[in-house]
Amino acid sequence: MSKPRCLTSFSLSELEDYFKSVGEPAYRARQVFQGVYQRGLSDFSAFTDLPLALREKLAGEFLINPLELEQTASSTDGTVKYLFRLPDGFFVETVLIPSGDRKTACLSTQVGCKFRCAFCASGLNGFKRNLAAGEIVSQVLSLKFRLGHNLTNLVFMGMGEPLDNLENVLKSIRILNDEHGLNFGARRMTVSTAGVIPGIKKLKDFELQINLSISIHSATDQLRSRLMPINKKYPLPELVEAAEDYIRSGGRQLTLEYILIRDLNDSLYEAEGLAAIARRLKAKVNLIAYSPVPQLAYRRPEETEVVRFQRWLEERKVKVTIRQSKGVDIAAACGQLAGKFQ
Ligand code: SF4
Repeated sequence: MSKPRCLTSFSLSELEDYFKSVGEPAYRARQVFQGVYQRGLSDFSAFTDLPLALREKLAGEFLINPLELEQTASSTDGTVKYLFRLPDGFFVETVLIPSGDRKTACLSTQVGCKFRCAFCASGLNGFKRNLAAGEIVSQVLSLKFRLGHNLTNLVFMGMGEPLDNLENVLKSIRILNDEHGLNFGARRMTVSTAGVIPGIKKLKDFELQINLSISIHSATDQLRSRLMPINKKYPLPELVEAAEDYIRSGGRQLTLEYILIRDLNDSLYEAEGLAAIARRLKAKVNLIAYSPVPQLAYRRPEETEVVRFQRWLEERKVKVTIRQSKGVDIAAACGQLAGKFQ
């Protein structure tokens, strides 16, 4: 018997094609889609609006949600990190970040990461594989229906580089956005990149108005290359140019993420460089105090140092928010929990 396929990797039109190919009416696709995304059904036996024989056939061919919850770590600040086991035994993390009225899910897009940023736990074990669209979508389904979280926002910012798995990430966004399914608003989804220029160029032509955020982490090529080796391939001036091109196409908004690391990228010189880039891109800056990773020597700045850096940016007319690094007590920096298991 062939391996079951992941149902959540199928768009509605692909499901319609499937049902037609097995001699069933196309409207069955919509029934299944609504059952999975609106009613939260994860077992075909619960689809009582489908004939019994069809339910059995589907159960033999598809897995609705391939993720098994392996471990949960809850922080005192409300952040919860979920570790999921994939069918081939790898692990991915999804983090729930509550903040005011918002409940944001931080989704993983790859097992491990190729880019090996010097401060990040995800790159430490190397790259294993891309996640399928359905494995990304299923993280949302698991949090929403299995774990009961009413999500308001999605950020593609967990393990992996989303633009290095662009096709599956964009497909997952289309599926999540489908009005016959979850109908998750594009404006409430943010894709984050370490600076994969070809991906930014392709994103420009994507039909949905999602948000883009770029991890900058230094305004100088030299330090950025040290922190983020991807900068050697896609240097800062070219990245800024690609980002400028992106915002020009249809008035899209951009955020710059800046992880502040003590005595490394927290100088006035860096703040001036960052402010110049942010002004040029009309971008908001998210400052995040570094979450220490035990195997790495980088240090977290004091709160006063974060506020000082914020003030330097604001004095230069840049809109800044300090994003509290959530879940410091549960090692919520991406990849830390999965790294232990992988
Ligand atoms: S910060 Fe992002 S791109 Fe860099 S190694 Fe970690 S997951 Fe990969």
